Amino acid sequence: MSVFSIEEKINVFREIFGRTPQYFSYAPGRVNLIGEHTDYNEGFVLPIAIEMGISYVVAPREDNKVRLYSADFGEFNEFSLEDIRKSETKWSNYVRGVAKFLSERVLLRGMDALIYGNLPIGAGLSSSAAMEVGAALSFQAVSPFQMDRKSLALLCQRAENEFVGMRCGIMDQFASLLSEEGMALFIDCRTLEIRNIPLPQGYSVAICDSKVRRELVSSEYNKRRAECERAREILGIRALRDATHQLLEEKKKHLGETLYRRAKHVVEENQRVLSAIDALRANDLQEFGDLMKASHISLRDLYEVSSRELDILVGIALSIPEVLGARLTGAGFGGCTVNLLREEARENFEREVKKRYREATGLEAEIWFTRPAKGGFVELFSS
Ligand code: ADP
Ligand code: MG
Repeated sequence: MSVFSIEEKINVFREIFGRTPQYFSYAPGRVNLIGEHTDYNEGFVLPIAIEMGISYVVAPREDNKVRLYSADFGEFNEFSLEDIRKSETKWSNYVRGVAKFLSERVLLRGMDALIYGNLPIGAGLSSSAAMEVGAALSFQAVSPFQMDRKSLALLCQRAENEFVGMRCGIMDQFASLLSEEGMALFIDCRTLEIRNIPLPQGYSVAICDSKVRRELVSSEYNKRRAECERAREILGIRALRDATHQLLEEKKKHLGETLYRRAKHVVEENQRVLSAIDALRANDLQEFGDLMKASHISLRDLYEVSSRELDILVGIALSIPEVLGARLTGAGFGGCTVNLLREEARENFEREVKKRYREATGLEAEIWFTRPAKGGFVELFSS
């Protein structure tokens, strides 16, 4: 669904619900620049919010009903705040989950909401977190409560973990709520400390969708998590966040080859995130790009979550002179790559990557360009 003008938002809402909306809430998706498979090891990540997201056009209700219409699925869904259960209508569960955990803590009002997005669904750009964050902001707009953004994000994560049943870290919801325009978001996944760090002007982030979706992603993801857990136990530490090179070398025999490689990736990837922040602060995007390249190689060789298609996409990107860095982003095996390039090279990048990826794989890559966007917000329609 494309982006609506203000008049269109109001008109479409009126057609669907027969009344006038009051609020517009918006939550962006995200892409992680560096720090992959570090979040569940209590490590560091550096995502940006992207210029695509989920929109909610909302009117409060006097009763406890929540009536939803998904423009993208062409479907209604309705529930009562007094009895929130999981639905067969999957997309509604992101709203229901948020409503359930919010209602345990604060007084919620009902609402009518029209939901639509321009984020690709299931591509790893976190349309799910954007659904949750959009719902949380909408409930906050129509209800008499205020919650700080970190608490809202944690609640949204809980909705995804416990209600929808998807085990995800805190990065997605934090990025969608706490990002600032033009800035990357550093997150310490242990302390939940954040820092917004400017990305210099003149550079663009390109996201390339390999169009490959593999069944094994979630089983391999769970396998990596289990491997990290075992490595942590053997090393005798709380999380791989606490591992050092020295410790890994000392315990190399006990770990065995596979666990050693997994742990090594995590230790070095955390270090790369910290170095990436230093590079940003020093305006050294060449160095930042080199860290992205090293991250990809580590994900490919040590963590073993790349794929032929992702390696091809990264290889093509890095052969373009204006590209500073490229790597797979997300769980791996398929999904997207993230690339840092000079702004003026966007057209050439799109042409080259599409053409050469098609030649190498027969697949049509999809490409989006973005600058770091601001986190979710609510606006009042002026009447
Ligand atoms: P992603 O990588 O995009 O987060 P997920 O599988 O985690 O993929 O979440 C995708 C799910 O989120 C969809 O199946 C759908 O239920 C919901 N969703 C995403 N975008 C929309 C949208 N525009 N409208 C309604 N539901 C959406
Ligand atoms: Mg998701």
